[in-house]
Parts: sequence; structure tokens; C-alpha cells
Amino acid sequence: MHPIRRLPAIDGNPGWFETSPSRHTPLGKRLTGDTHFDFAIVGAGFTGVALARRLAELHPQASIALVEALEVGQGTSGRNAGFIIDVPHNVDGGDAGAEHDRQLYALNTTAIERLRRLRDQYGIDCAWHDAGKYMSAHEARHVGALERFAAALNAAGFPSEFIEGQGLARRLGTGYYRAAVYTPGNVLVNPAALVRGLAASLPESVTLFSSSPVLGCEHGAHHTLRFAHGSLRAERLTLTVGSFSEAFGQARNRVATLFTYASLTEPLTQAEAAEHFPEVRPWGTTSAHPAGTTVRFTPDRRLFVRNTFHYQPALRTREAHLHEARDQHRRSFEARFPALAGKAFAYTWGGLIGMTLNHHSVFRHEGDNLYAVAGCNGVGVAKGTYLGHYMAEYMSGLHSAELGFILANSQPTWIPPDPLRKVGATLRLRRELAGAGGEI
Ligand SMILES: Cc1cc2nc3c(=O)[nH]c(=O)nc-3n(C[C@H](O)[C@H](O)[C@H](O)COP(=O)(O)OP(=O)(O)OC[C@H]3O[C@@H](n4cnc5c(N)ncnc54)[C@H](O)[C@@H]3O)c2cc1C
Repeated sequence: MHPIRRLPAIDGNPGWFETSPSRHTPLGKRLTGDTHFDFAIVGAGFTGVALARRLAELHPQASIALVEALEVGQGTSGRNAGFIIDVPHNVDGGDAGAEHDRQLYALNTTAIERLRRLRDQYGIDCAWHDAGKYMSAHEARHVGALERFAAALNAAGFPSEFIEGQGLARRLGTGYYRAAVYTPGNVLVNPAALVRGLAASLPESVTLFSSSPVLGCEHGAHHTLRFAHGSLRAERLTLTVGSFSEAFGQARNRVATLFTYASLTEPLTQAEAAEHFPEVRPWGTTSAHPAGTTVRFTPDRRLFVRNTFHYQPALRTREAHLHEARDQHRRSFEARFPALAGKAFAYTWGGLIGMTLNHHSVFRHEGDNLYAVAGCNGVGVAKGTYLGHYMAEYMSGLHSAELGFILANSQPTWIPPDPLRKVGATLRLRRELAGAGGEI
């Protein structure tokens, strides 16, 4: 039995989960006793729930177990910035060219429409907002990156708007940014509420086990998973555990995991909103610099800030890192919203981003009916949704142009193991942070 030594933890106080309307609705049960299923999926993030739904559609008679270490929505899928991104930005698309970008766009928009249908069908209350997305720059030296982004969007035929100066300040309620590229198709959500709603509305053939960390696994003609108070045997096993794949002995030396951190304020009062955000609609911006700050003004009038990275091979953050991140969030917040300097953060948390060197994801059959999906490169709400969907089709022997594209783009390049990985990640982070300046 292969022991799983690194397990997910809560890593601070995850604000989206805590403010999710379904927070107190029981979801799933603890795994106890010895159980047997046709399919088992480990990891109930966006990838795992999409895979479970599509498998249930394709195999209506099969029994499917979806297993999650934490409560659904407490994992990375519920800790992110809540952008469901349609246009591949520089994090995901790389320099692969306009045709490649168009194919990613088609997959992303199909995923968004699938999520929208499910939200409508099941009335998922997740602060869904068709807000679009800004990518913004504070410093003149970073406006060039925006111009290159706008040119790439133009070449691929995606709609966008370049906004500068006062016009931008009026739309955001802050004069901090010099310029931005606005793309209209992005959706903003409370991601914890969305992933919980998706898990709660899975077909009856899917049994959800929450607060049930897998502690060991054994592969062969059957797969056996060991838990604190029971076991699960399955004919076919898929790991959708994101940054924890290596702990299961899979996707070795392909995905580099980094902690990044977020804070969410208390809601602004009506008076604060009227004074500082007159006629400003909720918005979200990423940064023109890869190490820059993501900011949101939410529909319930909170401000969200995300920045700071740490390489942490134990896959758990430390109290000192959370403090460091919260202090940086405070500085970034006050630079953008000086008039709201006294507004406290109600929540600060950390989460893991799984990055691959060439932006490809892990999407593969490991052999013996064992499959793995990982490495969503910071865009996993849409990407995990389509990779999970197509993994079910791949496991079922279906073929399509979309699946062919995914398979052709699922060859992540080798990254060295520790201690070299740590050295490489630390040097890269140091270089990126030094270049980011006022974008943080
Ligand atoms: C702060 C932050 C901001 C981000 N912002 C965005 C954004 O705005 N938009 C976007 O698209 N992406 C964003 N991302 C990335 C996004 O969250 C991920 O790409 C996405 O969560 C990947 O989904 P997943 O289902 O593949 O994996 P995960 O969400 O990591 O799900 C894997 C699940 O497996 C579970 N698991 C692990 N080990 C075990 C075990 N032993 N037993 C049982 N269960 C286990 C975990 O608890 C977890 O819930 C952000 C990430 C962070 C950290």
C-alpha cells in the first residue's frame, strides 16, 4: 500500500467558503466501512465534479464514488479568485499562436456555458456575474505587456477594449491603474459556492464522500483506497487531486506547486460604497505582470486582493507566510484604495497553484485503469471543467476533435525534483517579484 503523506489542509480562513450561502448545508458523508464502486474519483474540485457528472451520463448503470479530503469548497477550487476565464491569457496560452488560442477559447466558452446551464437548472446561488475581466497596469513600463495582449486578442479575433486614465478610474473606483485591456466574456463567481452547488446537484449514481482523506492506495486488477475508518475498492480510478498528484505517486516531475494568498474585506457599508464607488459595477482585474495583484469588487461590496507566492513542498502553508501575505495584501489594498485604509480584512487564506513549464496539463491514462488530471496552470475553473468532462469521454473510448486537441496539448515538460526544484522556483519567484514593482 502506497502511503499518502501529504494531505490537504485549510491554510488560513477561506473567505469564499465562509461566505457561501450553502456553507451550513450538509454535503456528502464520511467514508466508513469497506465499500466497492465501479468508478472512483479522488478530488472534488472543478475537475472531479465535471468528471463525475459526465461519467454518470455516459454510464447510467455504473456506481461512482467521488472522494474529497475536506468539505467541498474548502479545497483550491473554492479558494481561488473566482474568474471563469474565456480568453486564454498569457498564463495559459503561452505563445502558441492565434489558432491554438481559438481552440482554447472554444473549450473555455463551452465550459462556461455548461456551468451557466447547471447554475440555471439547479438554482446555484454563487454570485454569478457576467462582468468581463480587466487586465491592468499601474506603471508605464508594463503598459507594453497590455498592448501585446491586446494585439494577440485582435489577431485571434476576440473582442476587447483598451481603456486608459479617467475613463478607467470611473469604471473601477480607483485611479491606481494607468491602463487596462477589458475582455467581456469572463464570468466572476464565488467559486466555493459554485463548486458546492455543482457537487450537490450530481446524479444519484454518484456517492460523495467528504471529509474523507485518502491515506493510502494500491493499484492492480482493482484499485484500493485506504481511509481512517474504511476502504474503497474500484475497477477504475481517476485522480483529480491537482497539486497533490505526486503524493499519490503520479504525474511525477511535471507540476510545480506554489502557494499564493488571498484576502477578502468585510462588505463596504452603503455609505462607503456610495462615496467611493459611485455607479461602479462589480469588477475583477488581473495584472499585466505575472507576479502582480488580482483585485475584485464583489457584488456584495467586498474587496478581494490576491498576491504573494511561496514554494512550500510540504503543501501546507505556515502561519508566518500567511502573516507575510496579509501584510502585503494590506499594502496593495491601501495603495489602490487609500480612502478605505481602515477597512479590515475579514478573511485571509492560501491556496496551491499547479504550474507546468510549457502550460500543458497532465491528462493521461497511467495504465491499469488508473487515470490522472492535474496542472491547470491557474485557470482551472474553466479548464478543470472541460478536462474533467473530456477525461470521462477518454475513459469511455469516445473520440472528438476537442479530445484530440487536449491530448496533443497534454505533454507537460519535465521539471527537476527537489532540492533543484526549490532552487529553481525560488530564483524564478525572486526575479518575477523584482520586476513587478507597483503591479503588486
Ligand atoms: C489564490 C488562487 C487564485 C486562483 N484564481 C483562479 C481564478 O481566478 N480562476 C481560475 O480559473 N483558477 C484560479 N486558480 C487556480 C484554480 O483554483 C485551480 O486551477 C483549480 O482549483 C484546479 O481544480 P482541480 O479540480 O483540478 O483541483 P483542486 O481544486 O486542487 O481539487 C483537488 C481536490 O483534491 C482533494 N485532495 C487532495 N488530496 C486528497 C486526498 N489524499 N484525499 C482526498 N482528497 C484529496 C483536495 O482537497 C482538493 O479539493 C487560483 C488558485 C489559487 C490558489
